[in-house]
Amino acid sequence: MDYKQYITIVEDWPQEGIRFKDITTLMQNGTAYKRAVEELAVYAKEKQADVIVGPEARGFVVGCPIATELEIGFVPVRKKGKLPREVIEANYGLEYGKDCLTIHKDSIQPGQRVVITDDLLATGGTIEATAKMVEQLGGKVVGIAFLIELAYIGGRDKLKQYDLFSLMSYE
Ligand code: 5GP
Repeated sequence: MDYKQYITIVEDWPQEGIRFKDITTLMQNGTAYKRAVEELAVYAKEKQADVIVGPEARGFVVGCPIATELEIGFVPVRKKGKLPREVIEANYGLEYGKDCLTIHKDSIQPGQRVVITDDLLATGGTIEATAKMVEQLGGKVVGIAFLIELAYIGGRDKLKQYDLFSLMSYE
């Protein structure tokens, strides 16, 4: 399926010079959304994932339906202050300043095979921080799945120790 036809490119959002890839138009199309999830679920199954981990909020949009499709668990990664129980955290750099992601301390069992999901790979900072926390809890990151990869930004280089899969790539 040509998934790109369902992505809307929004010029100069959220700031000038950015061509934002809006996935909501793909989600609005039931068939395209289902097919995309199914393809990523095949990848996660091949990787023999025990659990899916995804960062808020669009990592949930991608990861939760994959988890239910495979009948495995989903673990949310959230911004600091949002998860109710004991967490570990990881800081990561943004274009301006930094941000902090957290995950529940008891959410991953040592040795579990983890596939991480998100909607889009840009610099790789979000996923690098997510992977570090999974590893700190003893999980093994066996794959990372995206709807979209912005190949020209080069996030793949930051994540070269991992197996990456994306449905669409923009050069
Ligand atoms: P990174 O950490 O790889 O630099 O940025 C990826 C994160 O930023 C993802 O969680 C993604 O949701 C968000 N993001 C950055 N640019 C875009 C974009 O053009 N479209 C969408 N949908 N998300 C973006």
